[in-house]
Amino acid sequence: MRLILLGPPGAGKGTQALRLVAKYGLVQLSTGDMLRAAVKAATPVGRKVKDIMERGGLCPDDIVVSIVAERIEQPDARKGFILDGFPRTVPQAQALDRMLKKRGIKLDAVIELRVDEDALLKRIENRIAEMTARGEPLRSDDNPAVLRQRLVAYRQQTAPLVAYYRKQNVLRTVNGMAAIADVAAAIDKALPAEPSAARPKSARNGVKKATGKARKPQAASRLGKKSSKRASSLRKPAAAHKSAARKSKNGETARP
Ligand code: AMP
Repeated sequence: MRLILLGPPGAGKGTQALRLVAKYGLVQLSTGDMLRAAVKAATPVGRKVKDIMERGGLCPDDIVVSIVAERIEQPDARKGFILDGFPRTVPQAQALDRMLKKRGIKLDAVIELRVDEDALLKRIENRIAEMTARGEPLRSDDNPAVLRQRLVAYRQQTAPLVAYYRKQNVLRTVNGMAAIADVAAAIDKALPAEPSAARPKSARNGVKKATGKARKPQAASRLGKKSSKRASSLRKPAAAHKSAARKSKNGETARP
C-alpha cells in the first residue's frame, strides 16, 4: 500500500503514520525527519536547509525530491510506504507522479487530515507551552511565530494539492479535529479494501538483476553518516514497527 498523509503542521500526520506503520507494516517516509537528520549531521544538504527550516519555510523542491527518490528505492519501501510531509508543492507532486510511473506503481490513497486552523494553532500553542513547562526539548521550529509561518506555507504551497489529488481520484478527506482514535477509524474506513500490488510484474521484469550488494541506506549515504535515531529507524522496518507499536501503546503523540 502506498499512501500520502496530507495536512498542515500539527494536524496529527505523524501520530496516524506511526499507527499505520504498525498496522500495515509500511515504512514511514517523513521528509521532515530526513531533513532534520541532515541538519543534525551537518551534511551539505543539512547546511543548505537549516535556516529555511528554522524560519518555517519550505526547502527547495529539487533537494526534497531527490531525497525521496533515493529513499523509495530502498528495499524496505518496496512493500509499501506512507509519505508524511511530502509532497508539499505541486512540482513535488508532479515529480512523485513521474517517480511512481517509472517504477510502474500507483498511489492507493491520499488522506487529507482537514483541520480548523485557529483551533489547531491554539492546540499547538498549548502543547508547546506544556512541553516548555515540563522542560521537554522542543524542535527549533516549535514556536508560535514559526508555526504561523509554517501554516502560511501550507496554505499557499501545499493546500493546492487537495485539488491536484482530487482530480486523480485518490483523495480521501478525514476530519483531523476528531479524537485520535476516531481519526484512525475514519482513515481505516477510507483506505482501499484491496491495495494495489507491491510492484506489478511488468515493472519487476524490467528491474535489473540483484548484484547481491546491499545499497547504502539513504540516511547514511546522502544525508550524512551520523544519522539520528529517527533516521536509523527509517532504515530498520522491523525495529520501526516495534517502536511505533510501543509508542502507540503508550499513547504518545507525535509533535507538530
Ligand atoms: P515537518 O516535520 O514535516 O513539519 O517538516 C519540518 C520542516 O521541514 C518544514 O517546515 C520544511 O521546512 C521542511 N520540509 C519537510 N518536508 C518538506 C517538503 N516536502 N518540501 C519542502 N520542505 C519540507
